[in-house]
Amino acid sequence: LTKDELRRFVTERASGRCEYCQANALVIVIMELDHIIPRAQGGETTTENLCLYCRHCNGYKHNFLTGIDPQTQTEQPLFNPRTQAWTDHFRWDDEPSLLLGRTPTGRATIQRLQINREMIVKARKLWIEAGWHPPK
Ligand SMILES: [Zn+2]
Repeated sequence: LTKDELRRFVTERASGRCEYCQANALVIVIMELDHIIPRAQGGETTTENLCLYCRHCNGYKHNFLTGIDPQTQTEQPLFNPRTQAWTDHFRWDDEPSLLLGRTPTGRATIQRLQINREMIVKARKLWIEAGWHPPK
């Protein structure tokens, strides 16, 4: 596949949403392709190793494969959108501007990618008012 074809495939597979924090391309205009296993660590540019993610998550993931679960203070692998189901690891709080981890991996991913940082939680409150969040 060419770079453009890969990007189109990965974007459509993710329905245009960040595969970590579920932000919509509608509100976060710039989406990126993430190498789940970083190229620096041998990860390939294939559909099985790519996911769609937003500029915000991109800013924190870098080449990390693990994070610290704040509940157990242990190092845990980050969520892998290709081999794991999002709903197994995350759920929206009753007040859905906040993402909660259901598992050590979910919590470590939220912590590593700073998915509940103040700026994005504020943005989600606006998306809720606009009817863009949480995703159906
Ligand atoms: Zn994101």
